[in-house]
Amino acid sequence: MTMPDDTRVIDSASELYNAELVRRVDETDDLAYFWVRLRGEPVPFEPGQYLTIGVFADGRLVQRPYSVASSPRTAADGYEFYVRLVPILRFTTLLWRLPIGHPMRLTGPKGRFMLEPDDDRTHLFVSTGTGIAPFISMIRTGLIDGKPRRTVVAHGVSYARELGYRRELERYERDGLPITYVPTVSRAAAPENAGWRGRTGRVETILDDVCADYGLVPERTVVYICGNPEMILKTELVLRDHGLPEPHVKKELYWPKGKDAALMGGLPAGGGAPAREVELASQG
Ligand SMILES: Cc1cc2nc3c(=O)[nH]c(=O)nc-3n(C[C@H](O)[C@H](O)[C@H](O)COP(=O)(O)OP(=O)(O)OC[C@H]3O[C@@H](n4cnc5c(N)ncnc54)[C@H](O)[C@@H]3O)c2cc1C
Repeated sequence: MTMPDDTRVIDSASELYNAELVRRVDETDDLAYFWVRLRGEPVPFEPGQYLTIGVFADGRLVQRPYSVASSPRTAADGYEFYVRLVPILRFTTLLWRLPIGHPMRLTGPKGRFMLEPDDDRTHLFVSTGTGIAPFISMIRTGLIDGKPRRTVVAHGVSYARELGYRRELERYERDGLPITYVPTVSRAAAPENAGWRGRTGRVETILDDVCADYGLVPERTVVYICGNPEMILKTELVLRDHGLPEPHVKKELYWPKGKDAALMGGLPAGGGAPAREVELASQG
């Protein structure tokens, strides 16, 4: 990946800062987990909701919404986010430069991408890349509360190394919890995936098999989809053919349809247009 040189000056003091970056773990060169802790009492949220985090750079606030991956039950330790570095000079290039301890602005929560209370249907969670984050919060919270829901987690990535939360989800399966983990890699022929023995293909292409393999019938299944908008659209079509129409499906789009960073060669630098929270608000 070619990384543009981000020379913006990140302001380390602002009276609007109300949180700080307390921890970071890198999964790959462009995927990392960040923990941001609010100063004072943590704000409550529902698993599946998002918070907005930002910093001032060159005197202006650059901020973006992120699904919380951690459980609200552990908010005192900070909110965990799973983020992909997008190589354009907007927010993520700033986030990657932040040292631990740097102050940040945190607002929210927002969003309606939440579990229905007392829903005993099987939950099929479909995501690409970092879109797995809200599902991790939902699963962890169910486990902490001693009420795990029967869940099938279908997660699609390009390369096996991008399977964030893989070890955690495999551990849940090994421990006999009612969680089935179904990862798939789309670039099966790439040398980086040479050792991969699991499913291959984009996540929406494995769903027919997943429904058949795990007996996911429309009357007993609710589907949550999160991440890349193209995947969400294709997944909805597959599900409709499978007898799972819209009332069975909830979705969260991480960016507007048709705005793929790879296709956006000529993006302006700087704060740019923020991912629009209003337009992208969770769609129930
Ligand atoms: C409700 C909501 C929750 C979100 N949660 C997460 C999250 O948990 N983790 C996360 O990494 N991002 C998440 N995003 C996207 C995030 O807000 C930013 O858009 C993203 O981090 C890129 O920020 P940027 O400022 O660098 O570029 P932006 O100007 O925000 O986006 C530029 C382009 O980058 C691409 N892009 C955006 N997000 C991603 C991504 N996650 N993976 C690959 N390409 C992307 C799109 O093509 C987008 O048009 C979420 C977005 C919304 C609306």
